[in-house]
Amino acid sequence: MELDVLKEKIYMHNKGEKEFIQAVDEVLESIRPALDRHHRLLEENIIERLCEPERVIMFRVPWVDDNGTVQVNRGYRVEFNSAIGPYKGGLRFHPSVDLSVIKFLGFEQIFKNALTGLPMGGGKGGSDFDPHGKSDAEVMRFCQSFMMELYRHIGPFTDVPAGDIGVGAREIGYLYGTYKKLTNTSSWVLTGKGLSYGGSLVRKEATGFGLLYFVRAMLEEEGKSLEGLKCVISGSGNVAIYAAKKAIELGMKVLAMSDSNGYVYDEDGIDIDRIIEIKEVRRERIREYLDKDHPHARYQEGSKGIWNVSCDIALPCATQNELDLDNAKTLKENGCILIAEGANMPCTQAAQKFIHDNGILYGPAKAANAGGVAVSGLEMSQNSIRLSWSFEEVDERLKKIMKDIYKTTSKTAEAYGHRGDLVLGANIAGFMKVAEAMMAQGIV
Ligand code: NDP
Repeated sequence: MELDVLKEKIYMHNKGEKEFIQAVDEVLESIRPALDRHHRLLEENIIERLCEPERVIMFRVPWVDDNGTVQVNRGYRVEFNSAIGPYKGGLRFHPSVDLSVIKFLGFEQIFKNALTGLPMGGGKGGSDFDPHGKSDAEVMRFCQSFMMELYRHIGPFTDVPAGDIGVGAREIGYLYGTYKKLTNTSSWVLTGKGLSYGGSLVRKEATGFGLLYFVRAMLEEEGKSLEGLKCVISGSGNVAIYAAKKAIELGMKVLAMSDSNGYVYDEDGIDIDRIIEIKEVRRERIREYLDKDHPHARYQEGSKGIWNVSCDIALPCATQNELDLDNAKTLKENGCILIAEGANMPCTQAAQKFIHDNGILYGPAKAANAGGVAVSGLEMSQNSIRLSWSFEEVDERLKKIMKDIYKTTSKTAEAYGHRGDLVLGANIAGFMKVAEAMMAQGIV
């Protein structure tokens, strides 16, 4: 079947799943040159097979809040594709989570994981549970209930979840403790674990650090360095914080960061240790940044305004579709030369097109934020061989993986006649690896 006919069929089949269709559309549009070159892909109907998850699990998560009231949330795990290894991808706890969001994330994860060069398939999961404002005891009870169903579907050779929005070290600890109790095994089935129970050094920092290693590789290609450049980073969670930390370490000035309420701008450069204290340690709002130690800082309600801050480099690290066409235009007018995605699908399709057409360097999520899952893969390797590598060793491996991902994506773009188009390069390189594995394994 021809691609456009297939697209229509897939979109009808997944009607109403806005985010999922957006993610599929981006991939299918950019792999056209590969389909033209390799006819077997359409003959074997790889596209339709790839767009259909191998398994979708949806379940009830009942739990008791601190007032003794029974609450019910919905849990998800989408085991999307295991052609190159066990399903691998994070869990997201956020009120916006629904099947479409989890499917889009799981779909993206297939190609991202393939790009790392490690043997990991794609999956994603989560719940519409909102950890904000919940006590530790409530979060623990929720995680225990969530794992009471999830444990039967996962395993070190089947499906290895990790964290994502709303799922950090605390939640992974509760989930892992419950898994161990239910299965009576220490099979290290989650990644992002604490260092005292099988976690890896650099996992916490990996997505943010990896993003900056990728950005550095992009600029090196242009003969430029990061030193002295001004940067804006949305979000102030795991990805944003460690992106900011590495950006500062590499000589950049981070001017602004945000949370879902608003953003702080500090012309002296964001004090990242203060952000860590507010967001990671105390779980407070970013507006707390304004104090006597930061006399030039300003706070603005509304997180989207962050893209009005003039900068050389913009790193969206919060959530999907957070940077739209108007934001992209403003960034361009203000002299932004590079946008790289720490979050998954943070730029709308219209923004992406504008960025591409206007010569702004663009690092797509699948490639640019793959450092997190790459170090999750390294955590699995260390668990398997019962050894822990030093911070320096894991960091060196991460640097090499990010450099290799950059090389693979840019060489693939060039090989298909689209030099510099890293969206096309990442999509084709990830897709071809998975498609070849699927074809080798027959129709299963
Ligand atoms: P966290 O939960 O640690 O942090 C999310 C941050 O984004 C918080 O600061 C949150 O603010 C903020 N945020 C949420 N919605 C908005 C919004 N609409 N506008 C502005 N800020 C917002 O999540 P992560 O840092 O782990 O994940 C961020 C993104 O990176 C996601 O897209 C995730 O899928 C992606 N990603 C994460 C990886 C990882 O290793 N963690 C790996 C690869 C990708 P508030 O505090 O108000 O909630």
